[in-house]
Amino acid sequence: MADFDVVIVGAGSAGLAAAKVLIAQGKSVQVIEAMDRIGGRAHTTDDWFGMPFDIGCAWLHAADRNPYFPEAQAAGWTLYHHDMSLDHLYFGDRKATEAEMAKLAEAEAALAACVENHTGPDDRLSSLLTECHALRAATTFSGPMDFGKDDDEISVADFKAAADLDPNYFTREGFGALVARFGADVPVRTGCPVRRVDWSGAGVTVSGDWGSIHADAVILTVSPAVLAFDEIAFHPALPPAHVEAAFDLPMGLLTKIPLEIRGARLGLDAFDDLLIERHARHDIFFLCFPFDTDLMVGFVGGDFAWEIEAAGEEAAVDFATTRLAAIFGADIKRHVGRGHMTNWSADRWVRGAYAAARPGKAQARAVLAQPVGARVFFAGEHLAGSLIQTCGGARLSGEAAARAVLAQIG
Ligand SMILES: Cc1cc2nc3c(=O)[nH]c(=O)nc-3n(C[C@H](O)[C@H](O)[C@H](O)COP(=O)(O)OP(=O)(O)OC[C@H]3O[C@@H](n4cnc5c(N)ncnc54)[C@H](O)[C@@H]3O)c2cc1C
Repeated sequence: MADFDVVIVGAGSAGLAAAKVLIAQGKSVQVIEAMDRIGGRAHTTDDWFGMPFDIGCAWLHAADRNPYFPEAQAAGWTLYHHDMSLDHLYFGDRKATEAEMAKLAEAEAALAACVENHTGPDDRLSSLLTECHALRAATTFSGPMDFGKDDDEISVADFKAAADLDPNYFTREGFGALVARFGADVPVRTGCPVRRVDWSGAGVTVSGDWGSIHADAVILTVSPAVLAFDEIAFHPALPPAHVEAAFDLPMGLLTKIPLEIRGARLGLDAFDDLLIERHARHDIFFLCFPFDTDLMVGFVGGDFAWEIEAAGEEAAVDFATTRLAAIFGADIKRHVGRGHMTNWSADRWVRGAYAAARPGKAQARAVLAQPVGARVFFAGEHLAGSLIQTCGGARLSGEAAARAVLAQIG
């Protein structure tokens, strides 16, 4: 006798959305979450700056297709349409000339065309860059700042399958807070890591130190890294193709380094986008003073993000401050107040920012999207079709998995 119709592992955007679809259809559902809160990678905190700050997702990407967008509007959330094209570009501490800025726009268009026209076998994104003669800055966003990976670790096919995420909106109240609001009525047991999924008999039994639950089906919304690191033992084991797919979708990393800049605006406007290019992809992007707050939010991505998170918050804040001082003068150090660093690489239940297929392995997403034994289902940002890597996409993936479960169990 099942305790519930469906058990869902993970109370992030995908898990909460799957639960809501199933509950709306009269199914009994229990969500099991390892962390002591819901939201997963959607998490807003006031603790850092005394105002909402998104430690995970912040932009409501693809607002015209993002189900969170109309909900944010209906809830009276403060939304800003953020044109993400660069306003300020520096090579080291030298400001790019107008001619270089114009070249950047050309290079971005050339890169997009190159990706679109690529018909050969899947290859590393970096292989196209030589072909395109694109400016390196154009690829800082397509690679580390966007995919969370350096270009030589990105599959052209995977990159091509991802949608253009315009229009992008930023919220003052926080994307994490929006997801927490969305999931507030979902039954979730927090602080309960699932360590075993037994699908040997009829239905499934998920268990951990907290106990066990038997259900007709399970939806797993954990990141592929959680699967690859064997945080959950499957009995019987998952098919080899699924295991391989989890390894072929390693996590990229994006690290935020928000700095409080008190009493100085540095000639920048609210929401300006500033990029500082350096050697060996040690680049840093700043979102300047969103909503006219005192924050300059630094971002580093790809391999450099793993390095900086390993070096720790103090080193990261120092790095971001030093980069600003090189451009705006050492006096800026007097204006720097609190600084922080996000650390998703060290979060055991996520282990990175979002997944990106290895070059030549873009089909791994389709493999991992396949249910196993008609009762073990998968969902999450890594299985979100053209909206991969996004919170809105994770939600749509959770909803799709719930519909697949309904089709199976009736
Ligand atoms: C720094 C950063 C910036 C980002 N910026 C944006 C952005 O601006 N816009 C955007 O749309 N997206 C952004 N994203 C991506 C977005 O946050 C994610 O795509 C989305 O939140 C993922 O949702 P999910 O439900 O797939 O996974 P998760 O949110 O990771 O949910 C999975 C849940 O499973 C839980 N779990 C894991 N293992 C177990 C276990 N064994 N037992 C029980 N529970 C378990 C986890 O704790 C987690 O809560 C960003 C992500 C990061 C890290």
